[in-house]
Amino acid sequence: MSGARKPGQALAASRITSADVRRTPVTYRRATDVALEELPNQRSGAACRDEEPELFFPLGEGRAFQPQITEAKSVCAACPLLSACESFALAHPAMTAYGIWGGTTPDERTALRRKARAARKAA
Ligand code: SF4
Repeated sequence: MSGARKPGQALAASRITSADVRRTPVTYRRATDVALEELPNQRSGAACRDEEPELFFPLGEGRAFQPQITEAKSVCAACPLLSACESFALAHPAMTAYGIWGGTTPDERTALRRKARAARKAA
């Protein structure tokens, strides 16, 4: 990809390459990379390890992106790090602002955080 990308600037998925993902900040990196650094049970191995990173970074969450999201989620569903990855993503919204983490989309994580806040308030 040509041109410098500023931190927080969204990637255009159609232009993302594996090399781009490897050298980008953690926000844009697949959970595999983070798992090796941050997640517990990292030796279990992330299921996305052998997948194209682009699969986990759909450009949106609308109908057009559902096949990609479904495919990414199916990889997550078989991942031994699923629970830890989701917890990590929920606890680090800035680091995981984009992409599929722990089988969830950004909008789903926002909803889960909102639900958790409401439950804490109600308790
Ligand atoms: S749950 Fe999904 S995104 Fe997270 S490490 Fe596993 S395969 Fe990768």
